[in-house]
Amino acid sequence: MGAYAKFRRDLPTSVTQAIVGNSDPESADLWVSFREAVGSAGFRRTTVATSRLEKDLAAAEKHRKQGVEAFENGKYSEALSHHNAAVRLSPVSSITLGLTYANRSAVLFMQNNGKMSIADMDRALSLSLPEQMKDMIMNRRQRCQAALKIDSGSSWSRWLLSMITSTSRQAGKLRRKVRNPDLMTSTPKSGSPRGAGSKEGNSQHLLSSLGMENRRISEVLKDGPMPSALHDTATATDFGTMSSSHEGHHQPHMLSDDICLDGTDSLFTGRRNAVIPAAAEALTMHYAPDKGRFYVANRDIEPGEFVLNEKPYASALYASLWETHCQTCMRPAMAPLPCDSCAAVVFCSSNCKDVAKATFHTIECPHMGDLAEFAVRDGSILPLRMMTRKNLEYFRSRLDALHRIDKQRNKSVMSMPLMHVNSDEYLNVFNLLPHLGLREKYALSNAAALALFFTKCLVSSGYFGATPKLEDTAMISRLMFHNLMAFECNYFTLSQSGITEDHAYVDLDERGMAVFCGASMFNHSCNPNVTHYFLEDNIFCRANGVIAKGQEVNISYGQYFHLADREYRRSHLKESYYFYPCSCDACEENWPLMEDIVPPARYQCPKCKLSIELESLEEISTKSCSKCNTSFQPYVEALQQLKRDAENFVTEVHSGKLKRISDAIVALGNYQKALWSMSLRPNADYIMLGSVLGEFFVMESLPMLSPKQLCAVESAALHHSNRPVVVAVNNEFLQLPFFVDIWSEIYPNIAFTRLEIQNWLNGTVLESWLSKHLLDSSGYKTIHTSDVLRYATLFKYGGLYLDTDVIVIKSMTDLVNALGIESNDLINGAVMAFVKHHPVMKCCLMDILSKCVCAFYPVHYTEWPRLIHSDVDISAKALKETEESYLVHYWGRLSVDEAIQLNTPQALALLARKHCPKVSAAMTDGKLWGFNVLPVGQF
Ligand SMILES: [Zn+2]
Ligand SMILES: [Zn+2]
Ligand SMILES: [Zn+2]
Ligand SMILES: [Zn+2]
Repeated sequence: MGAYAKFRRDLPTSVTQAIVGNSDPESADLWVSFREAVGSAGFRRTTVATSRLEKDLAAAEKHRKQGVEAFENGKYSEALSHHNAAVRLSPVSSITLGLTYANRSAVLFMQNNGKMSIADMDRALSLSLPEQMKDMIMNRRQRCQAALKIDSGSSWSRWLLSMITSTSRQAGKLRRKVRNPDLMTSTPKSGSPRGAGSKEGNSQHLLSSLGMENRRISEVLKDGPMPSALHDTATATDFGTMSSSHEGHHQPHMLSDDICLDGTDSLFTGRRNAVIPAAAEALTMHYAPDKGRFYVANRDIEPGEFVLNEKPYASALYASLWETHCQTCMRPAMAPLPCDSCAAVVFCSSNCKDVAKATFHTIECPHMGDLAEFAVRDGSILPLRMMTRKNLEYFRSRLDALHRIDKQRNKSVMSMPLMHVNSDEYLNVFNLLPHLGLREKYALSNAAALALFFTKCLVSSGYFGATPKLEDTAMISRLMFHNLMAFECNYFTLSQSGITEDHAYVDLDERGMAVFCGASMFNHSCNPNVTHYFLEDNIFCRANGVIAKGQEVNISYGQYFHLADREYRRSHLKESYYFYPCSCDACEENWPLMEDIVPPARYQCPKCKLSIELESLEEISTKSCSKCNTSFQPYVEALQQLKRDAENFVTEVHSGKLKRISDAIVALGNYQKALWSMSLRPNADYIMLGSVLGEFFVMESLPMLSPKQLCAVESAALHHSNRPVVVAVNNEFLQLPFFVDIWSEIYPNIAFTRLEIQNWLNGTVLESWLSKHLLDSSGYKTIHTSDVLRYATLFKYGGLYLDTDVIVIKSMTDLVNALGIESNDLINGAVMAFVKHHPVMKCCLMDILSKCVCAFYPVHYTEWPRLIHSDVDISAKALKETEESYLVHYWGRLSVDEAIQLNTPQALALLARKHCPKVSAAMTDGKLWGFNVLPVGQF
C-alpha cells in the first residue's frame, strides 16, 4: 500500500468532512474549514513516513558493468543509458559513482561529446577513487583535450573563435526537414489543456482545397529540389555592424523585423501589455460573471501576430520521464547529473541541479517515492510544485491578498480584481477559477485529502520549519486544495515541438504539466482565433486569422468544431472544464463539420456586407452589389490572385524551399484577410488556412543556423584546423544536438555551446550589470546583447571573435590584439582578436557599464552588392580587393534576402566554393541562403 493510500485509510472522514461538509462549497469559508481540519486531533494523528526512491549500490554496479560491456562492443548509446542509470542509482559516497563517471566519459568521448566527456572526468577526479585510477583519468583527460585541441592549461583555449549568434524569428525564416512526407499530414497538436487536438492533415487538406486534390504531398515534394533542410535563424549574424549609430536608416527597420525568442518586446507588434506583461498590448482583459476573465482585441490583429508569450509559474515533469529528463527545465538529459540523495530524478546540468536544490527538490526529495506513485496515477505533482517553488515566507506575506481574492470570488462580484498579471506571482494562480460549486462531493473530498497529504509531506520535509504552526499548515493545505481544484480547468499539458535525432520534424512529446498565469485567461472557442504551442516550457500564442477590434481572443482547449459535432464537444467541455454550454460562434450557430461545409462558401459584399446568394466566385465576379452598387470583379480577382500566391508559397514550403515559410505565413494571412471580408462564415478555406498557419508557426519557431552562417563556421574551421572554433549560441531554443553530431565528424575542431548571459558575464566588470535590466529595456536588445557578449568573450577568454556573416579565406592565427578596420576612421566589431584580459576589451565593458547602451563601433555601409554581382569583371575586381584580406565580411543584415548563387561568377560564390566546400557541395539548389534550406543530412 502506498503512502497516500495509507494516509487516506488513517485519516478520519470527519477531517475531510470538516472541509467539504458545507452544502455550498462555493460560499464556504474554506480558510476556516481547513484550519479546523488541520487543527483536529484526527489529522494530527496521521503521519506520512518519508519514502525516498533510494540509491541502490548493487543495481548501480550492475548497470555500470553492463555499460562497460556495451562500450567494449561498440554499442555506445546502450552503454550511455546504462551509465546514466548507474549515475542516478549510485550513492554519492560510493566508488561506483566515480567509476561510472569515468566510464561514461569514455562513452561520451567516443560519441564526440568532448566537453561532456571532460566534465565527467572532472567529476570522477573530484570523487574518491584509487590513486592509480586517477592517474589513468588524468592521462585520458589530456588526450581528450589534445583531441579537442584545447590547451590543457585552461578550460578554454586562448584562441577562442566565437561566433555569437542570436535568433530573430520573424527575419528568421523557417525550418523543417521534409524528408518524411507522412509528417506533413499530421497537425501539431500543440498542447492544449489536456493535450487534445486536431488530428487531420492540414497541409494535405490545404493542398486539396487549393485545387491540388489527388496529389499526395510526397508527389508534390518530388517536384522541387528536396533539400532535407531545416530552416534558420537568419540574420542574427552581424549585430556588430548594425550597432553602428551611423546606420540609423537601417536600424529601425531591421529591428522592427527582429523577433527575439527570449520574450522581449520585439516579439510583439507594438508593446507589451502593461497589465499582463506576457501578452501583447493589443489584448485587453475583461471580466464577465458567466465567463470569468477573458481577452478582447483592442485593435485589429493581423494573422500571424504574436499575442502572448509566457514562462510558466510552475511546471512539473511526468513521473515517467523523471529518469531521463531534467527535473528543472524538462529537457532530455544526455549525460544527466543525479540528485545527491534520491535515485528518483536527474538534472541536465549543474545549473539546473542548483536551482532544484535551492528550491523545490530539497523539499520534495524525501518523498519522491510517494510522489512518483501519485504522479504516475494522477499525471502530475504540479499542485505540489506550485507550493515548493516558493518558500513559506512568500505565501505568508501574501495572506491578506489571498483572503481578499477568496472573498471576492465567493461573492461572485461583477468585477474580479484586474490585478497586474505577473507570470511568476502565485496570486494570479490563486485567482484562477476552481469551479467548486460544480464538483461532485467525492471529488472535493478527494482533493481535500490530497491537499492534506501533500501538506503532511511538506511538514516532514521541513518546509514549515522545526515546529510547524497551525496557521501555516492550514494556509498551505487550503492553497493546495485550490491548486488541485483548479488543475483540470486551468493547467496546460506541455508538449514539445522539435526535431528528432533522425532530423525529422515532430510535433509532440508530452513532458508534463504547467500553469501559466496569463495564458490561462484565454477562454475556449471551438473555432479559436489563436494557435498556441510550446518550446521547452514557454508558451507561444499567435493569431491564426483576422481578429477584429472588439472580438474576443481565444484558444481551443482541445475541441474543434470541424472535428467533432456540437453535442460531443459540449459534453466533453462540460466534463473537463465545467463550463456551461460552449457559446462560441461554431456552437451557437451549430456549424457543420469541415467536410460538410459545402463549397462554395456563402459570400458578402466586401463594402456593405450584404449577403450574396450566388453559387461561385466566377458568377459573383460578373455582378455588382444590389445595395451599394460595388462591382465585385476587382475584389474577386484580387482574392483569386491572393489564393494563387498562398498556393505557390505553401507548395514551395512543402517542396523544401523552407526559407519561404515566413513569406508563406504572410501570404496565407493576406488570403485569409481577403476571404474574411468577402465570405460569410463558416468558410472551409478560411478555417483550413488558420490550421496551416498554426502548423507553420511551429515550423518557423524551430531555429537553426543558416547555410550562410554555417559557411562562416566551416571556413573558420577549415583555416584553423589546429584551433578550436567555438560557436556560441545565445538562444535556448536552438536545436543544438541536431547539427553538433554531424559537424563534429567532419570538423572535430568545431564545438557548439549554448551560452547563458549571466554565466558569460561572471568574472567581468559586468557581472552584476544584468540585474539592472538595462538590456531588457533596450530597444535594440538583440544587438546590444551581441555586443556585450562579444566583448565579454574576448575579455574572459581571449582569442579571435568573428561574426557569422563572413567567409574566412586564410588563417588568422597571426592576428593578435587587432580590430577589423573598414576605412580610415572606422573600426568594426565583426572581427576582433585579443589576448585574455586585454585592456581594450576591458574598456569596452566599462563603456557599456557607464553608458548603459553601447554603440561602440561605427561601421559604415559598404558596397556589399558587388560581392554578389554576377558580372565577371565586377566580381574579379571585388576578389582582387579581398586578396590580401583574412576574410570577407558581407554585411549579412543587409544582404539577408540575397542568396549566394554558387554556380555563378559572384565573388562570394567563388569564395564559398573554395572556403566552405562541404556546405556549398550540400546545397542542391546551388544557393546559399541566409535562411535555412540546408541539406544537413548530406554531410
Ligand atoms: Zn535542465
Ligand atoms: Zn532527490
Ligand atoms: Zn464551442
Ligand atoms: Zn454592397
